[in-house]
Amino acid sequence: MKKKQFAVVGLGRFGSSVAYTLTNMGYDVLVVDKSENKVQDASKEVTHAIQADATVEKNLISIGLRNFDVVIISIGENIQASIMATLIAKELGVGYVVVKAQNKMHGKVLERIGADRVIYPEWDMGARVAHNLATTNILDYIELAPDYSIAEVTVPKKMAGKTLRDLDLRARYGVTVLAVKREDDVNISPKPTDKFREKDVLIVVGKHDNINQIEEFTS
Ligand code: ADP
Repeated sequence: MKKKQFAVVGLGRFGSSVAYTLTNMGYDVLVVDKSENKVQDASKEVTHAIQADATVEKNLISIGLRNFDVVIISIGENIQASIMATLIAKELGVGYVVVKAQNKMHGKVLERIGADRVIYPEWDMGARVAHNLATTNILDYIELAPDYSIAEVTVPKKMAGKTLRDLDLRARYGVTVLAVKREDDVNISPKPTDKFREKDVLIVVGKHDNINQIEEFTS
């Protein structure tokens, strides 16, 4: 299968992190920034780095932006530039354009002009940290919908030695266990009779509030 081709426009903290992570994962990544210095630094890390103003249509045409499967636009500081670059990328026919928004209003405009996904990195990270701080057992979570998430939860002491059947998390809390991590192993089809150990990590799906209740588990 052909590997996805990514282009990242705007090499601030967010754009650089996306570009370098994708490169480390083995993807070809093109980065574009109007700053010569940023482009020079990035050229040591990624496949291609080009200095250009992304608000000028002919620049994005000559770069061949429309040939990329995913374009990430990460110009936060200049909302107008971010909107222009998004509009041009969509008009050129890029299939999936992900854009970093500075605030809700910026995000709304981006959605209106066709951004396929709008992200609010600081807001999202803040929410993750809050979940993490408010509960001792939740290690990480991904929001699936406003009410639902997938979370990594450490097995509380009270659950150690019990089986999935004993715990009955689905009936008690409406939470389903998708997998169990034990040290470096991941068991993606836990049996009802498998016994949990303290420090096992459960990967669960359910409503946020219900996942939080697991912490209060009493047998
Ligand atoms: P972060 O908040 O993630 O650090 P910034 O919004 O500060 O990101 O960074 C934006 C980046 O986008 C900067 O590197 C800047 O040079 C680049 N940039 C701004 N306007 C344009 C433009 N018109 N074309 C290309 N790159 C741009």
